[in-house]
Amino acid sequence: MANPTTIAIVGLGKIARDQHLPSIAGNSAFRLIATASPHHRLEQVPAYKDTAELLAARTNVEAVALCTTPQVRYDAARLALEHGCHVLLEKPPGATLGEVRALVDLAAARGVTLLASWHSRFANGVEPARAWLASRRIKRVSVTWQEDVRVWHPGQTWIWKAGGLGVFDPGINALSILTRIIPGSVVLRNATLYFPSNCECPIAAAVNLDDQHGASIHMDLNFRHTGTESWDIEVQTDEGTLLLTKGASLLQINGRDVAVAQATEYSRLYAHFAALIGERRSDTDMAPFTLVADAFLCGRRVEVEPFIE
Ligand code: NAP
Repeated sequence: MANPTTIAIVGLGKIARDQHLPSIAGNSAFRLIATASPHHRLEQVPAYKDTAELLAARTNVEAVALCTTPQVRYDAARLALEHGCHVLLEKPPGATLGEVRALVDLAAARGVTLLASWHSRFANGVEPARAWLASRRIKRVSVTWQEDVRVWHPGQTWIWKAGGLGVFDPGINALSILTRIIPGSVVLRNATLYFPSNCECPIAAAVNLDDQHGASIHMDLNFRHTGTESWDIEVQTDEGTLLLTKGASLLQINGRDVAVAQATEYSRLYAHFAALIGERRSDTDMAPFTLVADAFLCGRRVEVEPFIE
């Protein structure tokens, strides 16, 4: 068996601890050799305060998983790619479209793998839904992505700063699923974004999109929701209704549960990263991020009451 790829995690926050660490530990294609995070470290793993310090000290690092806040991802990714590392970008892949294009070019020039990761695309129901929809005509789609920001993002002030995306931080997960399961392209028609008067990013949004044949797709994104979360996508077709619930972990077709293969999103994500590295390929689909950028470009802005956590 080939030697495992040595990997470092940059940004030791919630997602790094909840998902990246266990997925790396559970995948023999990778060996964690270091972390870089300004204020946090793991016991018994060499720790550095930032990417530059990490790369200077650990010249044998072959891959980097960038789990930082999106606003600082570009600089770290650039350093890692210039160092010759394969790079996994958490979602969203950067703060601007231009940043990510520059990273795509740099990865190609260096001959290393760049993965703009969309973890929700690896939810259990996504590939079966995509396969079922491939031969159906879509009539209408409804996306409901509602959660309590105080429960899911406590203390994450970065989410409200420019580049943090606000409610589109989870909303981009819905878009990553949507753009995977709906055949052809999806375009933004219009959007209304609700900005708290003290925040740089929206707390809620209503987004209207079209599929390639003009079928309407409506999205309701809401961070002010309380109680049980809704992370649901309903697709009405000429042959009935497909329903993905709980972030696409569950699939129903015409009211019946569909049995789907079980695995965690991040175990599949790391298997994909390993395969890409093996094949020296990149995966940098920008469709979800482009739709978010389009919503910020064209969306009508409505000011609402301040958000106080
Ligand atoms: P978080 O808990 O706030 O963690 C972000 C981490 O980034 C912090 O631990 C911080 O390190 C680190 N960081 C900030 N600037 C840095 C820099 N210059 N160099 C190195 N590290 C730096 O946020 P999170 O929830 O993990 O989210 C991080 C990213 O993952 C976001 O893009 C988010 O959309 C995505 N994501 C989150 C979830 C989730 O459920 N939370 C799920 C999927 C994807 P220190 O603490 O050491 O200062």
